[in-house]
Amino acid sequence: MLIIDAHAHYLDEPHYLKNLLKTMEINEIEKCCLSGLGEKFFCRNNSDVKRAFKMNPDKIIGSYYIQPGVSGIDEIQEAYNDGFKMLKVTIPTKPYNHKSFYPLWEMAEKLKMPILFHTGIVTIPNPSKEISYSSWDMHPMRLEPIANNFNKLNIIIAHLGVHWNNEAAELIRMRPNVYSDITGEPDGWRVRADRIGLRKWLWWEGAFKKLVFGTDVHYSKIPDNLNQDKNWLIQYNIDKTTQKLYFANNILNLLGMIENG
Ligand SMILES: [Zn+2]
Repeated sequence: MLIIDAHAHYLDEPHYLKNLLKTMEINEIEKCCLSGLGEKFFCRNNSDVKRAFKMNPDKIIGSYYIQPGVSGIDEIQEAYNDGFKMLKVTIPTKPYNHKSFYPLWEMAEKLKMPILFHTGIVTIPNPSKEISYSSWDMHPMRLEPIANNFNKLNIIIAHLGVHWNNEAAELIRMRPNVYSDITGEPDGWRVRADRIGLRKWLWWEGAFKKLVFGTDVHYSKIPDNLNQDKNWLIQYNIDKTTQKLYFANNILNLLGMIENG
């Protein structure tokens, strides 16, 4: 089965890209959507990501990182021209749905670039005094006005909201242009999801049709996350068509890379 990791980061450590590509190959992950969040997240930056997908066009899909309140709309157009296919967003200076950010979402919609929004509590591993943010600004319900106003914009909620799972799940149920991933550290919110059972939130028929596979972990933890996801799909009796949507076809559809899935 085709597997695409819709949520990967380019960490700033020696040979990371090489190791990531090797891990993908061993685990039969065909492509990943790679973003760099910069120094504050111990990551490489957008230009490193650009270099990575230019050198590995079959393996890497460029995901351009923007920080609302800091990044401008011209940057999005430029990223698109450079070959980036989607956007990754986190730590806005104001709530995601703040009107001053609407030109960003409008531009992404126009360029047909899906947006992966971080949602839930965020910890900056390498903080500095200049960075101030509130996780409240990244509540999944902040995405509702964006989904309503830009109904051609494809939105992916990261981590099913981390701890705001109910809201994230209802949003993907009620809005056709909103999807979610269930990524994160193996010992993070996913432990709770495993203990409680994902069906607590994803209870309706077809809920898994609104999820996209991703990892969002160091390459060394990718096999664990992938295995856990495969086990979840078995545990919840997810049919083959939905599995295909989950592992690849949803993200390919959102990126406009296949006609339908
Ligand atoms: Zn992430």
